[in-house]
Amino acid sequence: MADYRKMWEELGMDLESHDTLCAVLPVAFGDTYLSQENRPENMAFYDFVVSEIHGVRPSELIEHQKKGGKVLGTFCVYVPDEVAVAAGAVVTGLCGGSQFWVPGGEKVLPKNTCSLIKASVGARLDRTCPFFRIADMYIGETTCDGKKKAWEILAEDVPVHVMDLPQMKRPQDYTKWADEIRIFIGVVEKLTGGKVTAESLGAAIRLINNKRRALARVYECRKSEVIPISGKDGLLMTQIAFFDDPARCAEMANKLADELEKRIKDGVSVFPKGTKRILLTGTPLAIPNWKLHHLIETSGAAVVCEEMCTGTRYFEHLVDESQTTLDGQVDALAARYMKNNCACFTPNTGRIDDILRLAREYKADGVINTNLKFCGLYDTESRSVMRALKDAGIPALNIETDYTDTDAEQLRTRIQAFLELLG
Ligand code: SF4
Ligand code: SF4
Repeated sequence: MADYRKMWEELGMDLESHDTLCAVLPVAFGDTYLSQENRPENMAFYDFVVSEIHGVRPSELIEHQKKGGKVLGTFCVYVPDEVAVAAGAVVTGLCGGSQFWVPGGEKVLPKNTCSLIKASVGARLDRTCPFFRIADMYIGETTCDGKKKAWEILAEDVPVHVMDLPQMKRPQDYTKWADEIRIFIGVVEKLTGGKVTAESLGAAIRLINNKRRALARVYECRKSEVIPISGKDGLLMTQIAFFDDPARCAEMANKLADELEKRIKDGVSVFPKGTKRILLTGTPLAIPNWKLHHLIETSGAAVVCEEMCTGTRYFEHLVDESQTTLDGQVDALAARYMKNNCACFTPNTGRIDDILRLAREYKADGVINTNLKFCGLYDTESRSVMRALKDAGIPALNIETDYTDTDAEQLRTRIQAFLELLG
């Protein structure tokens, strides 16, 4: 990695502690990713992003700020990036996916909080992630109890705006979410000094839709009998999409899709014929959480799809581009975002429908339902997910894990037994 110490210093980071993180990440990435064979050439871009993860993109965000721009940090796929982009702000994902940050979170949060929340809070308070230092404002949401309380703690250290997400899908809930988006427009306009107009919001909707279309093309390739990309690489593309510039993200994902489509035509697979295909569903896998994909793919199977926020929930469904008034566009945004099926909704039968549909579309031989320890929502919903899969005759394995490696061997044994069951 190039030398970014001056930038990190100016961001007020704890350099000593950050050095420890910088020392372990390349090793983990090398072991998990660079050990794979026959990877698509276009993965070189994503490898480069990881190798410079705390340097290149943070520098771009700082450049944007130097020109008077603002950066918003988000933690959930319900927050509409389009609004921020329309006001001239840049959005960056902030979900923490490393065990490295968890102890920092545990200093202020109960231990029985999910690793994602603990890592996100730890990354901010321990001052070991440039993205968490750069963001001018964090945009939270009322998705789960742990997050709601975490916003209060973070708000002592950084400006936080919380969007009140409805948790049912009745007509009045769509109206309420549209109203929340209108409030969000006001907050972003105040922060940036910019104006969200029908023109700027229309352009932002098209920009983010194009990113969704590009990501969807790559996932479309993962449906093929010839598997042209590993699940690990598919996941990495999605994880980086949360941080990258949306136009560049679309460009790079389209390039990757071009290559994958050619591979399919030429019969180039990264797995031997007959490799069992796994659909992964459950709680999100924030970067650098590659644990499950690595365990599954080094046990002889392929992850072909993630029904997760770091997966299909991020790009499925486009925002209606035909609206020309601000009101119409806000309603269209509300309609699109409410199509997401997070376990924080009740009832959430739409997620079960999604899992069954995706298992068919991606020709999954089996489904692994994964829950991040202490996530009560997804844990409770596991019961209906597992029952629906059983009723549909789809073999399924239910697991719970966290960011540590202590359960890796035990999980490997269970995954291998499950794969044997698939024949
Ligand atoms: S799992 Fe739910 S709360 Fe978490 S990022 Fe996804 S939509 Fe948001
Ligand atoms: S994994 Fe569960 S507990 Fe953790 S932030 Fe997401 S919804 Fe909340």
